[in-house]
Amino acid sequence: MSFAASEDAAAWEAAIDLYQQDAVVEAWELAQQAGLGDSGRYLRWYRLIEAEALLRAGSHRIPASAWMEVEYHPNEIDDPRPYVYLLKSAAEQVAKRFRWTDWAPTTVALLTSESDHRWAMHPYGFCIEKDDGYKIILPYDVLDDNAELQEAMRHEYAHVIAFELSDGQAPRWLEEAMCVSAEESLDSETKDEFLQDPESWRSPQDLEATLESFSDDESGEEEVWLAYQQCGWIGLYLLERGGEVRMADLMRAHRGGSGWNEFWIRLRRESPTDRGLRRLFGFGVSELFDRAYQRMARSR
Ligand SMILES: [Zn+2]
Repeated sequence: MSFAASEDAAAWEAAIDLYQQDAVVEAWELAQQAGLGDSGRYLRWYRLIEAEALLRAGSHRIPASAWMEVEYHPNEIDDPRPYVYLLKSAAEQVAKRFRWTDWAPTTVALLTSESDHRWAMHPYGFCIEKDDGYKIILPYDVLDDNAELQEAMRHEYAHVIAFELSDGQAPRWLEEAMCVSAEESLDSETKDEFLQDPESWRSPQDLEATLESFSDDESGEEEVWLAYQQCGWIGLYLLERGGEVRMADLMRAHRGGSGWNEFWIRLRRESPTDRGLRRLFGFGVSELFDRAYQRMARSR
């Protein structure tokens, strides 16, 4: 059975709603019946829902701490305890770094090898706030390498902290600046790419759009990856200037609004990000982008 376009949209709305409730098997049944649409804009949801539904068929859960549990498939993982230990210690490391103590309920889903594919948007993982808490989704191949698993977890757990601090109101580029820094795997060789082609160092609006874009081809993937690296350089600069405590304060400066950034940018007035930056660091967004570029250019 297949739906017409408007029915597709309604079916996707219902599927995404079920997914938010973590009813991933029911969401998957609905998603398979709905069309992907010409733009393929539902493809990302389709893959996410599929991957979690594959895991849910026979998955087990093991508590990692009072605030975290790990969902895994016993066919893929005999003994989850070593992974649980690595995941928990990575999360604790990031929390300690950003002085974060308000643990939010979090489930880490370790996907099965069956759904192992490179996600253009989220090659190393994904973090989403569902109705009953945060869900961090990690692809199967990061389990191969303990260091990579911990990097991925540090990045995704930093999303939980960034989201909680900013109430989800910070621009995506700033959130990624914090998360790529927390990951601790900035590729310093990207410096040469940015210097050879200064246009690839994007403006705030362009960077935001690239992070949100979805691409299935290789050059698109490379662009998105480079955008993440730019965020990493910006994060590095902010941390050097103000440390983790001030970066956390910058996230908090976004609280209490709804769609504020877009609103202020449209009015061409000072956005909460600008205001927070000026108060805490002494410069605004566009100066931050210039300064981070210069800092990168001077690095060895
Ligand atoms: Zn991220």
